[in-house]
Amino acid sequence: MKVHSNIMVFCEQREGKVHPISFELLSKSKEMADRLGVEISAVLLGESIIEETIELIQYGADTVFVYDHPSLREFDLLNYKHTIVDLVREQSPEILLFGATNLGRSLAPRVSVALNTGLTADCIGLDIDEDGSLIQIRPAFTGNILAWIKTSTRPQMATVRYKVMQAGSADISRKGKVIRREFQPVPSFFTIIDQEKLNGVDISGAEIIISGGRGLKKPDDFSLLAELADLLGGVVGSSRPLVDEGWIGREHQVGFSGNTVKPKFYIACGISGSAQHMAGMRGADVIIAINTDPSAPIFQIADYGIVGDLYEVVPRLIEEIRRRRK
Ligand SMILES: Cc1cc2nc3c(=O)[nH]c(=O)nc-3n(C[C@H](O)[C@H](O)[C@H](O)COP(=O)(O)OP(=O)(O)OC[C@H]3O[C@@H](n4cnc5c(N)ncnc54)[C@H](O)[C@@H]3O)c2cc1C
Repeated sequence: MKVHSNIMVFCEQREGKVHPISFELLSKSKEMADRLGVEISAVLLGESIIEETIELIQYGADTVFVYDHPSLREFDLLNYKHTIVDLVREQSPEILLFGATNLGRSLAPRVSVALNTGLTADCIGLDIDEDGSLIQIRPAFTGNILAWIKTSTRPQMATVRYKVMQAGSADISRKGKVIRREFQPVPSFFTIIDQEKLNGVDISGAEIIISGGRGLKKPDDFSLLAELADLLGGVVGSSRPLVDEGWIGREHQVGFSGNTVKPKFYIACGISGSAQHMAGMRGADVIIAINTDPSAPIFQIADYGIVGDLYEVVPRLIEEIRRRRK
């Protein structure tokens, strides 16, 4: 059955709860759908997730397609991709949106290749042009310009960064349709992604991030930052060079070509503060920088700066936190 919808939003869930990026995407889609005079459909894959559909409708979905199955509990690239591709082929939405989370960044490019359409990754804005097409706004040339991109093929696909758009408030009086779909598993012969790594860290949603940069001397030294992160209930982040070196997974990367984060505390250890790194973390409530070089640019945006060797400062911080908690 084809429903009357022209914007489709992939709504990500983790452990049975809808990821907040989905509400941001639905709120933005609602604004655009009202201008276009079209409807919005949401796609939700997971296990025991039927109750989550209520909120999707409250945030703007007119129809929710739900695939509820134990095999969809965790992100499985092949099954997720094939389910979405089949649904998109049947429903032919004009616009198809994903969050630029680790999951969305893995899934959306593969869906776009399967559908033979374009994809604009990591958008920070969306708009509707006079001709009704989607304008996808994203930084280009290291963030020096904002590119406005239009796609000639259909659907027009984009991933949108987490926390760059506002989720409106839920309208509890909103009504919509929930369509349960039967999940058809894809026979899988190999695992493409390392599930452990992908699900291991949610840096975009973290409230406390302890990030390491080239001030670290060897990969194992991330364990020092992990110890501090564990004590504070935070996660470990990284500047890009260490990710490129393979010292830590890409899902930990903060910055222009990594994750945008907005934690309550961001502790930068041995990070100089390049424009590309700061593009991803300058929205943190409180920034603490530890660096041996007093002229490092990171100190220009830090709320607290510690000029010193991270190998001395971090162990002392850990010791002090432990002492106070006794
Ligand atoms: C298109 C493009 C996209 C990019 N995207 C990103 C991105 O998403 N994220 C990102 O991070 N980078 C990104 N980069 C790379 C960026 O330009 C910088 O090269 C990178 O951020 C530098 O990382 P760093 O601060 O760890 O290293 P460095 O700039 O080398 O800084 C290391 C710092 O550690 C300090 N230090 C050394 N020893 C110690 C010690 N013992 N204790 C304390 N401090 C010490 C030094 O004083 C120095 O300030 C991108 C670049 C390009 C061109």
